[in-house]
Parts: sequence; C-alpha cells; structure tokens
Amino acid sequence: MSESVRQMLVRGVAAARTGQARDKEEARFYLEWVLRSEDAESDQKTTAWLWLSEVEDDPKKKRDCLENVLAFDPANGPARRGLALLDGRLKAEDVIDPNQPIAPVTPNVAPSPAGVRRYACPKCGGRMSYDATKRSLTCEYCGNHLFEYQAIQQGALISEQDFSATLPTAKAYRWELPTARVLKCEACGATFALPPLQVSGACPFCGSNHVVTATTGELIQPEAVLPFQFNAEAALKFIRTWIEHQKHRPDDLDKRAAIAKPRGVYLPVWTFDLGGTMNWRALIGEQHGKQTVWVPRNEVYLVYHDDLLVPATHSVSQDLLNEVMDYDTKALVPYSTDLLADYAAEIYQIPLADASLVARQRALKIGQAHVQNATLAGENYKDFFMNTSGMIIESYKLVLLPLWITAYRYKQESFAVAVNGQSGMVAGQVPRSGLQKALAGLLGDN
Ligand SMILES: [Zn+2]
Ligand SMILES: [Zn+2]
Repeated sequence: MSESVRQMLVRGVAAARTGQARDKEEARFYLEWVLRSEDAESDQKTTAWLWLSEVEDDPKKKRDCLENVLAFDPANGPARRGLALLDGRLKAEDVIDPNQPIAPVTPNVAPSPAGVRRYACPKCGGRMSYDATKRSLTCEYCGNHLFEYQAIQQGALISEQDFSATLPTAKAYRWELPTARVLKCEACGATFALPPLQVSGACPFCGSNHVVTATTGELIQPEAVLPFQFNAEAALKFIRTWIEHQKHRPDDLDKRAAIAKPRGVYLPVWTFDLGGTMNWRALIGEQHGKQTVWVPRNEVYLVYHDDLLVPATHSVSQDLLNEVMDYDTKALVPYSTDLLADYAAEIYQIPLADASLVARQRALKIGQAHVQNATLAGENYKDFFMNTSGMIIESYKLVLLPLWITAYRYKQESFAVAVNGQSGMVAGQVPRSGLQKALAGLLGDN
C-alpha cells in the first residue's frame, strides 16, 4: 500500500469530517488527489468518493460521488442512504439519531368506533368472513356474498418497499408493546378486550366479527395478505392424518388424542429480497504423494433471494413456525381488513431492523451450505470463510400469513400443533412411544 496515498486520504477525511465550510477546499484537494493517484486501492477510492460526497453541495455532483462509491462497493450502506435522500425516497428529518433509544409503540387501548369495523351481513345480520374459494365476504347463515374485496383487488399491486430508505428511520426499529385493545361491540353493546397484539376478533357475547382499522402510522403497515385456503374442519383432518403418519408415536395416539378446535391466526411476517455477492475463501488440499499441499481458493457467490420469510412474532414457537414456513408468496393479495374478519390478526413484535439481520444470517447459511455441499463437494478443504459485506437487502414488505394453531391432549399432557393455512403442512409435538422412551433413557437423552 502506498504511504503517500494513505496520508493524503487521512488528511482529506480529517478536513471533510469537520463539516466546516472553510475546510471543504482542503478536503476536496486531498480527496481528489487520492482519486487521481494510480497507486490508490479500490477501498481507498471508495472512501475518497464517499467523503467527497459529503463536501459537495451541488446535488448532481453529490450523486456522481455516491454512484462512484456504489460502482466500487454496491452494498455500501452510507452511499445507498445518501442516494435515497437525494432521490427524496428518504427525508432528512426522518433519519434517526443512532444515539437515541427508540421506544416501542403503545397502541390506542380503546379505539374509537370509527376505527373499528364490524363485519355483519347486510341481509340477515349474520357473521361475515372471507371465503378464499369464492374470493368474497360470505355470510355464515344465509350465504350472502359481498364482493367488496374483489373491487379493491382489481388493479391493486403489491409493492415491495425500499429497504435502504426505511432502515435509517425510526419505523425500522419500533415494535408494539403487548397491550390489549378494548372494543365496544357494535351489535350487542358489550365491551370486550382483544388479546394483546391482536387487531381482530369476535365479540365473546354475540359472536360478531370486529377488525381494528385505525393505524398509528408509527409502525410499518402490512402490504399483503395470503388468505386462508381451507377452514378449521379441513385443518383438523390434516392434523389427524399427520398424527396417523407419525413413525415413533404410541400405538393408541390416533385414537386417544383429543384435538381442540384449531384457531386461525394471521401471522405478521417480513419478506426480504436480497442480492449482491458474498466472497468466500478456503484452502484446498491437493495430494502430492503422501503430502497435502494447501492451495488458497477465492470465489464470488451470487446472492439472490425473492421473498425470504422472517416471522415477526414471538407468539408461536419458532421451532413449529420454521417447519411450516413453506408459503408460496405468489398467492399474496393486497392488504384489506376485509380479509381478516373471523381470524385473529397480529401486530408485529420483531422490528424490521432485527428481522433484516435474521434474513442476512439465513442467506449466509444458505450460501455456505451451497458452496460447501455443491462447489466444494468431494474436495478436501479447510479454513472456509464467507464474507457477507457485499450482500444487499434490496426490498422488504410486511405480510400476513395464515396459520391454524391448536393443541391436542394425550394422557394428561398437551401437545402444540400448527398447520400452514395455505399448504396444509403440519408441524407439532409428538409424545414418544414406550419403546422410544426406553431407548432415550438408555442413551441418557431425556
Ligand atoms: Zn346473511
Ligand atoms: Zn357483541
């Protein structure tokens, strides 16, 4: 590395860092010197372009600088944020101070009647819920259909949200404190509470469906919903079949398991689209007679994920969730509260920023597994390392996904079960048979 380039860069950055108008000329002089130098390395040029963008006042020149940063380093966070500001996708007043803690949101505990919608049949007053097969709100009693939702759906697009423009704002870090909302039933006049984090539910006295439509604006709103594809009875059948097919279950489990009626829940889930690259390196062992020679290998792995799903809730066990997360997001439709009637819809607790780290981790694991199991399959290698700095989260959205949850009892014990409301895939806890228990005891695994 050239010592003079390093020194010029240090001086340029120091002058730019002061933020004073009188230091700008000095900063520009040193930084441009670095950019002209043939000895400058690409990360030094990236740094020079980034700081030059700070001292430029002309938006066009600022943009050129930032685009040059991204040409060297497409995943550069500050440059992506700078461009979002220049484009107006991100407003300067929304950018958070990283030293200020962000408080969770407390919802309006008693939403006004205007912020709550009751779903009742205009013909007979019966409960209305969304019927996925008919694509309409349907009355449970008289079968009346309301095609309200279809009208909203036509021409409505599900948009991906700009991640680099949201991450620097408080919205990316906020979540809702678990708080019960108290509603006054529009049908029978009773007052009832929804469980914490829930924005929809039925009045326990008269059964009419209510959905809270008022939103705080402090949280990110759902963009899309994947409607339930089958009802609670069908979910029960999936569970019975699943119990019958368990290999190591007690013999009488299918006859004795008492399954409670499944409850339909719309789970908040983040989707992420990722791109960019991950660089990996490893030492490959080459056999020369009896001697192993370790040869370094460096390669680039291309990242591409469309709708990587990260649950935004703690209310269902992560183990169960991970097993049933095989949703096909092509079936998503634009968000409408009409779709939530008769189901329990939840508000997210895991903020976008935290979920994005989970998404990056998952993409890294997928990349590592791919390189190790495919590219390096059959090779003798060691010191494998993969670098995520070139990986970019392009976009995100918040969606609600359908899940049936319940539990069954067997010999005084309760076992949780979840059913994917789209595919019918089941995950759950299973009691071990006597033989299994004995084997586990022998192996010291309790
Ligand atoms: Zn009706
Ligand atoms: Zn009521």
